Amino acid sequence: MTSQRILDFLAAERPDGPCLVVDLDVVRRNFQHLAEAFPATGIYYAVKANPAPEILELLASLNSSFDTASVAEIEMALAAGASPDRISYGNTIKKERDVARAHALGVRLFAVDCVDEVEKIARQAPGARVFCRVLTDGEGAEWPLSRKFGCHTELAVKVLEHAHGLGLDACGLSFHVGSQQCDLMAWDRAVGDARKVFLALGEKNINLSMLNLGGGFPTRYLRDVPATLAYAEAIQSALNRHFGNRLPATIIEPGRGMVGDAGVIKTEVVLISRKSEDDPMRWVYLDIGKFGGLAETMDESIRYPIRTPCDGSETAPCIIAGPTCDSADVLYEKTPYPLPLSLRIGDELLIEATGAYTSTYASVGFNGFAPLPTYIVGGGDDAAAAA
Ligand SMILES: *Cc1c(COP(=O)(O)O)cnc(C)c1O
Repeated sequence: MTSQRILDFLAAERPDGPCLVVDLDVVRRNFQHLAEAFPATGIYYAVKANPAPEILELLASLNSSFDTASVAEIEMALAAGASPDRISYGNTIKKERDVARAHALGVRLFAVDCVDEVEKIARQAPGARVFCRVLTDGEGAEWPLSRKFGCHTELAVKVLEHAHGLGLDACGLSFHVGSQQCDLMAWDRAVGDARKVFLALGEKNINLSMLNLGGGFPTRYLRDVPATLAYAEAIQSALNRHFGNRLPATIIEPGRGMVGDAGVIKTEVVLISRKSEDDPMRWVYLDIGKFGGLAETMDESIRYPIRTPCDGSETAPCIIAGPTCDSADVLYEKTPYPLPLSLRIGDELLIEATGAYTSTYASVGFNGFAPLPTYIVGGGDDAAAAA
């Protein structure tokens, strides 16, 4: 699954220490697949998944739009060449002065999920477009985003009514069915809920026009995932079922599905040990762990494919841990990970499908371990540059 270009880069450059290598051609291909599968839908890349400038520049050049969560992310998208009308401030939790800064930078599309957030936007971004995020159950997702964001549908009606009353453009709704969502029906439930809010507001002469379908599009880790086209078909039939011939404009906010499979982390085995001489379980310590960028192994939620130099030889389950002096820095223990018995200290491993939610999750230097560097390959010229 690791692209030849990434393997060539690692063989030629032999970077010391753990690093993430991202192949821009894979990002381009993912964008094109999404754009083909969702031809009438706006694509807002969720910047938080991987904000490397080269990725943002490539996507800006492909006419992607951007879902941002902070003023800094807005500035990154602008620096990459996106115009402000292609940027959504999609975080429902914003300081009022950040709303003002975003407005000054030209951003006119904001997410809300409560009345107080609407008030901030009405004061600092008068006339802006706002969409209300509704709760979903997150069921079926490997990395659920439920509970913290969004409100119940009845409250969403009140929130948007309030926005309308304050002179904002109450334009629509959003939801996020949970990240790494492999249940195609998750969108059906959420679209059905959204339709109820559209109807309730329509009765008050507030006509919503936009439905933000969020992210959730998966990356292939150890198991197959449905194709992008299957998502598009499931979502289109949910829209048809619930909205009939009064379809809203739609947008999607892919993060993981855009960049996950474009990146590979190179790591090294620092130590292999056992807790007693006759303990069958090996502990394999890598030079990267939860604090070096693999935070999504929390609760063993995301299980990455790992390639070793001795793949194909006999394996036995291992506990895999990171290098820091924190006992939370264990990646896989509840479900031990099979690794070759011939694995040796010093061997280099590839942790695949790590393009999303890794580099920015690395601590700034816990225990003195440097943040994870990113190298970019592909994208026209093969010169790699450290980010
Ligand atoms: C994180 C996030 C996304 C991206 O989710 P993925 O599952 O990575 O596609 C999209 N929208 C919002 C509002 C987010 O917070």
